[in-house]
Amino acid sequence: MTTRLLIVGPQGSGKGTQGVRVAEAFGIPVVSTGDIFRANIKQGTELGLKVKAITDAGDLVPDEVTGEIVTDRLSQADAAEAGFLLDGYPRNAAQVQHLDAFLEGQGASLDAVILLDVPREESIARITERATLEGRSDDTEEAVAHRLSIYESETAPIADTYAERGVLDRIDGVGSLDEITERIFRALEARGLQRV
Ligand code: AMP
Repeated sequence: MTTRLLIVGPQGSGKGTQGVRVAEAFGIPVVSTGDIFRANIKQGTELGLKVKAITDAGDLVPDEVTGEIVTDRLSQADAAEAGFLLDGYPRNAAQVQHLDAFLEGQGASLDAVILLDVPREESIARITERATLEGRSDDTEEAVAHRLSIYESETAPIADTYAERGVLDRIDGVGSLDEITERIFRALEARGLQRV
């Protein structure tokens, strides 16, 4: 069985944590563009050098750069065979189109899009906590506010596109980690998607 999922939510919604849990349960790899960029920055690769200033400022890396990274990753054997959970991509309408074209080329489409709903104040509180714990260089107050405004103007609208296609599951993202994971599992099971 191939399961193709996307998790969307504002910064601090817990999508990274929930994404890992869901992917594990379904036996699929997480493809997180944020993680790919952070790993490249840490290793000082050419890509890392190119995107460091952009990610630090909380801006979006150009679509061509991000799109190629994602489609390369999704073409690898594990993702092609078992499927994948995308975290952080697509983030705007152009990226949705790029992903659509790639998946259509494989005669595939997303099985479900999980939208984690978290009020703005709650996401800010969680990011502030993460900044203290992890010290991410893009968790400064200014960059956080900028990322949230990009989320609201560019990313939140993609949920409507997926809702129109009937694949969106809106999940209440407030509660304990386990409660939220259970909500996601229930929504995916209601679509007939099977955990491994
Ligand atoms: P994240 O961990 O998903 O919050 O991503 C961290 C940063 O990586 C973002 O603030 C962007 O600078 C960059 N990034 C991640 N995903 C994308 C994407 N799909 N398009 C453009 N930039 C991205």
